[in-house]
Amino acid sequence: MSASSAEFDREGAVAIASVAAAAHLCQRVQRRRVFGAALTKGDKSPVTVADFGAQAVVCRALELAFPHDPVMGEEDAAELRDSANAAIATEVVGEVREQVPEVTASAVLDHIDRATSDGGGGRFWCLDPIDGTKGFLRGEQYAVALALLVDGVVRVGALACPNLPFGGAPGCIVAAVRGRGTRVLPWPGDERIEAASARVSPVSDGALARIVESVEAAHGDHGSHDRVRATLRCTTESVRLDSQAKYAVLARGDGDVYLRMPTSVEYRENLWDQAAGSLVIEEAGGRVTDVDGRALDFTRGRKLTANQGIVATNGALHAAVLAAIRTIRS
Ligand code: AMP
Ligand code: MG
Repeated sequence: MSASSAEFDREGAVAIASVAAAAHLCQRVQRRRVFGAALTKGDKSPVTVADFGAQAVVCRALELAFPHDPVMGEEDAAELRDSANAAIATEVVGEVREQVPEVTASAVLDHIDRATSDGGGGRFWCLDPIDGTKGFLRGEQYAVALALLVDGVVRVGALACPNLPFGGAPGCIVAAVRGRGTRVLPWPGDERIEAASARVSPVSDGALARIVESVEAAHGDHGSHDRVRATLRCTTESVRLDSQAKYAVLARGDGDVYLRMPTSVEYRENLWDQAAGSLVIEEAGGRVTDVDGRALDFTRGRKLTANQGIVATNGALHAAVLAAIRTIRS
């Protein structure tokens, strides 16, 4: 093995361990079904005790392993520091202590607040502590998503998908280091199941394409997706899943196309919603672009301002899907 191919191995291992620990926190909260979903952010999206707790757990692990690395995260602790939300803050601290018993309350808030990077160039981590919070609240799919970017290139991506079954286990972790392929790992602690390499499907006929899309119609334009399906003469029903579990499904070859067509001309995707998933697809042999076929530009800050929407495929179907999008837009 060359020195360069092993370059990001440690980062990959830390990413996998930290998303696994954060996902365990989320599972505890989901089992109790006490979400503390008392907070609604400015964009009206819900944020739960588990979002904050998962961000604290991952940021703490990154700080210990890579103390100089900036982190871009979806959440911050401003609302938790407000005395009106003291009960939620106490719950967050309690959940983090289940994973890290020695941590103090103020350290938990500081860990959450460490994820303030605006990205751009250079090296930084990008975290969505719970991607698909709406799916999490419904008891369905969600993911803890972590990526390492260096000069706009995603080098490491890890998705913990607690509700995406694999080899008899209820959940899995799908992770990639650039140049090393994508792996599906058993849920930590389940020693019966062996890790496997992930490979996209070989389906090349648009009529047979299995298309995945968001559950939330506000996040991907279901009407446009249906028109793309019709243009491809696709005979299968679309499958709806929350979160970057969609990328994991494609990487494992269990779906062929992920469509995320914009629901408004203004909306730009958040980095943390796409970075980890995009590498997991590419390293499994697939392709990711925006709806115009442009490469995703991760150097623009917290949002993909140079891109609109997402098209991820097994590679074989990419040109046909982009052509279908051009057709329905013309
Ligand atoms: P999904 O689970 O794939 O539906 O995506 C969840 C993510 O959608 C959340 O993490 C949000 O950041 C993101 N989101 C919120 N509003 C929109 C929108 N209008 N278009 C696309 N994505 C959005
Ligand atoms: Mg998200």
